[in-house]
Amino acid sequence: MRDILVAGNWKMNGDSAGNSELVAGILAGMPDNERIKLLVCPPFPYLGSTAQQLAGSKLLLGAQTVSEHSAGAFTGETSISMLKDVGCEFVVVGHSERRSLFGESSAAVAAKFKAVVDGGLTPILCVGETLEERQAEATERVIGEQLRAVLDLVGVAGLATAIVAYEPVWAIGTGMTASPQQAQDVHEFIRQMIAAEDADIAAATLILYGGSVKGDNAAGLFSMSDIDGGLIGGASLKADDFLAIATAAAGI
Ligand code: PEP
Repeated sequence: MRDILVAGNWKMNGDSAGNSELVAGILAGMPDNERIKLLVCPPFPYLGSTAQQLAGSKLLLGAQTVSEHSAGAFTGETSISMLKDVGCEFVVVGHSERRSLFGESSAAVAAKFKAVVDGGLTPILCVGETLEERQAEATERVIGEQLRAVLDLVGVAGLATAIVAYEPVWAIGTGMTASPQQAQDVHEFIRQMIAAEDADIAAATLILYGGSVKGDNAAGLFSMSDIDGGLIGGASLKADDFLAIATAAAGI
């Protein structure tokens, strides 16, 4: 039986009281199942307080992005050592909103990925195609280029502790989930691309699916052979919705 990771990306939502209530709700309902790992990625200002709240529990903590720089004159940025300092273990890099809204190129995403690995934290590398790219049958080319930028910078060994998240842009926040088979096909492509360089690393890499995952579609997705869990946006903002996904995972 393989492990399944259910990761919540809260994006720019919540406040102190609401986030604390959300964490308390998740902690109260975490499935009693060693295989199911749960992770939350709150906005930066709430990382420290969330770290304190989940201390001693099995709930994991991640950040939504990071600077590729280690310190210095980078106003508004947050470094890996700062994330470590407040108790983060995971960092999402290359979320499609970072790529499209903040102009992060695949080269910039790769630099962030390297900073996370060098800093000893676990990167969650997001890759995904737009609807136009899918319709033009360019999905594998786009995902391949996004992954290649990282492989070229860190080598396959750099992926040894990493997580990849396939998030079709057309499925994020739209209610249009990829079918289990559509997602499986891309996950298999990603795993094969890593396997071409190192079969052991490929077999061990967790590949999450993200894009309108809910309690009622999670089991179908997570039961596919190359889907090792989910990166969840909207449904991670309510404890019951997030736990419904975790419960579905536990039932596989
Ligand atoms: C996301 O933000 O990464 C995401 C997958 O969002 P949603 O679950 O709302 O589609």
